Amino acid sequence: MSNQNGIPFLDLVTPHAELKNELVEIFKTALDTAGFIGGPMVQNFENDFAKYCDADHCVGVGSGTDALRFALIAAGIGSGDVVVTVPNTFIATTEAISQCGARPVFVDIDEATYNLDPKKLQAYIETACDFDQATKTLIDRKSKSRVAAVIPVHLYGQMADMDPILALAEKYNFIVIEDACQAHGAEYFSKKENRWRKAGSMGKAAAFSFYPGKNLGACGEAGAVTTNDANLAQQMRMLRDHGQAQKYYHDVEGYNGRLDSIQAGILGVKLKHLPDWTAKRQAAAARYRELFAKAGNPVNTPYQPEWTKPVYHLFVVRVANREDFMKQLGAVGVATGIHYPIPLHLQKAYAAMGHKKGDFPITEKVSVEIVSLPMFPQLREDQQAKVVEEVTNILSAVRV
Ligand SMILES: *Cc1c(COP(=O)(O)O)cnc(C)c1O
Repeated sequence: MSNQNGIPFLDLVTPHAELKNELVEIFKTALDTAGFIGGPMVQNFENDFAKYCDADHCVGVGSGTDALRFALIAAGIGSGDVVVTVPNTFIATTEAISQCGARPVFVDIDEATYNLDPKKLQAYIETACDFDQATKTLIDRKSKSRVAAVIPVHLYGQMADMDPILALAEKYNFIVIEDACQAHGAEYFSKKENRWRKAGSMGKAAAFSFYPGKNLGACGEAGAVTTNDANLAQQMRMLRDHGQAQKYYHDVEGYNGRLDSIQAGILGVKLKHLPDWTAKRQAAAARYRELFAKAGNPVNTPYQPEWTKPVYHLFVVRVANREDFMKQLGAVGVATGIHYPIPLHLQKAYAAMGHKKGDFPITEKVSVEIVSLPMFPQLREDQQAKVVEEVTNILSAVRV
């Protein structure tokens, strides 16, 4: 950031400075015991994170991408299967699908929540698939493949509408894997169960990323899977460690995808602060709303239905002339981001899928308007006031 008084998009220095002594202790412990792989730091963090997510099991892995890929493989998904997800997500979601051997199929998002639209999932099932009653298998008509799973992405820290997604999964016999990589601690009110549920506790399994910029971030790469299925957890433990449960006895061919002990120790320290950091993000989101309302709502703030408690990994607004808007904000020292500028179905990497513009109109429409404003727990009130003032100035100048 060139502007001295600028407002960063994200501050990763302050939280680490605050925890420096505790984090250095983790390094010391690892060095003193040469405990770099496995051991109590990994187990303790897995236990703590499972508890935090209201899940029975947590298996630490090398990244969120590993978590998604291993969860799919452990659930028996692979070549010849279709896995449904949204085009408005980070490419890791579809990389995991392709890399387990399956084929991604996209369903468009809901314009209000930016998450998978259950009605469009239902429409895909009813118009593009056949249900084989004998084998209880949903078949994608075009590829003649089994629809094995759906991955709803809890984007920006807000959970997807899980009740109808889970109901479709039950009716048509496929599984749900949550991409909770942006949603540590997010909650969803299940009308069906009449209670709040945590991200990572609702699907067959859920993937979390601890990439440094995530709400719970390591000092390097890390990820985890949560699940209530003991068998799936056991499979995950083998997959991350070359398919072995006992050293050099390989039941299956696996991967090198373990969670480092040092990262696990660091995550354990930070997890204790996560409820406070989440509360601060939620307070900052409420303050943005208040300040934008006072300024006459120059932008639409994120939709927050009463059935979610988002953790505001990102605070996303929408504007016309986005590139110009971001340039002007940058010039006055306000950093912004775009999540994500190119929908997956229009990425070069997926040209072979044969999609064209217009295939997923809601994702395409929002992709050219979305802007992520500064959002992190240490974001101050005066910084937020400046963001809102600058946004308002830029947008009112455009109008006249
Ligand atoms: C960050 C992220 C991932 C991948 O996590 P990594 O730890 O970077 O591999 C997957 N899905 C979503 C939605 C993410 O935001």
